[in-house]
Amino acid sequence: MKKAVVTGAGGFIGGHLVTELIKRGYLVRAVDKKPLTQWYQVSEKSDNLVLDLNIRENCYRAVNGYNEVFNLAADMGGMGFIETHKADCMLSVLINTHMLMASRDCGIDRYFYSSSACVYNGDKQTDPDNPGLKESDAYPALAEDGYGWEKLFSERMCRHFMEDYGLTTRVARFHNVYGPFGTYDGGREKAPAAICRKVIDRELYGKDEIVIWGDGHQTRSFMYIDDCIKGILDIMYSEIEEPLNLGSSEMVSINQLVDIVEDIAGHRLNRKYDPDAPKGVRGRNSDNTLIREYLGWEPSIPLKAGLQKTYIWIREQMIRDKEIMEKNPRKHGHNYKSVFND
Ligand code: NAD
Repeated sequence: MKKAVVTGAGGFIGGHLVTELIKRGYLVRAVDKKPLTQWYQVSEKSDNLVLDLNIRENCYRAVNGYNEVFNLAADMGGMGFIETHKADCMLSVLINTHMLMASRDCGIDRYFYSSSACVYNGDKQTDPDNPGLKESDAYPALAEDGYGWEKLFSERMCRHFMEDYGLTTRVARFHNVYGPFGTYDGGREKAPAAICRKVIDRELYGKDEIVIWGDGHQTRSFMYIDDCIKGILDIMYSEIEEPLNLGSSEMVSINQLVDIVEDIAGHRLNRKYDPDAPKGVRGRNSDNTLIREYLGWEPSIPLKAGLQKTYIWIREQMIRDKEIMEKNPRKHGHNYKSVFND
């Protein structure tokens, strides 16, 4: 039986990965620093540990007795978070550093690191018609300040632990991931979830206006969570030693993203643009030449299909949040409810 540790298991992608690994018959240890009541998904079949992985000893506790690591823990969020919490983002370097040291010393066979498209050179992302970022576009380095530099540095640390200590490491550069059981409010949410929430606000709270960050012409691609989980596992068990893009190549502008969500909701909102809000790079897309070549596959779930599922899930959560708040007006914001999978 395979024994895998998933860090960041209380978060969005980690929660889905734990579910998939259990389905595949793994023995799973799920680790996150959040209290268990705040995990997005909790399985009773995994060994669930609440540990702060910035602390070295906790990383040794996390990996002890296991043989594979999926490191997804990071202090992160959407543009609104990473542009205003650069030091917090960079402190995640402690997680990957200590997890690598513990993995080396405790005989871990394989180690997966979740990097990001934020490692790419900003000068290659100034045009909204971005043809797609190739893996080589990370250098010369001009990563997203804070979050992107930490990811780039940690990628290199994985590479050197492989070269110098023989630890097998695999690295994927995720492009925006979305889907159910992710953050949709509170400041760490990303564009797809934030836009779904703002569109649902009209139905639940009668808000007719949607505020769009920037001019709405900035472009991105968005990968549905099921593609992300398949990609993580395929890359983990591949022989590919270099960082690989894991993202959709279906590029849309933020205005087009709003159009799609409005189509799903069946209503339109008045758009107001906020030029001073955090907006990130002008154009970003994933060049999938390498992943196609190596794995014969690339993320391909259409944005519209994935958003439909995400919208339905966020709407259910917001209806529940509203009911809770109406019963108890002193309770504000998102009311976490872990979902037990077994
Ligand atoms: P998330 O915020 O939902 O999950 C990350 C989890 O890590 C959180 O539950 C958090 O509590 C935990 N964590 C943070 N600091 C920790 C610590 N010191 N010790 C233990 N746990 C800690 O984020 P996600 O979307 O699931 O992202 C997972 C990984 O993928 C992250 O490394 C992220 O940088 C990367 N990534 C995500 C996206 C995306 O679009 N979601 C894009 C690029 C890269």
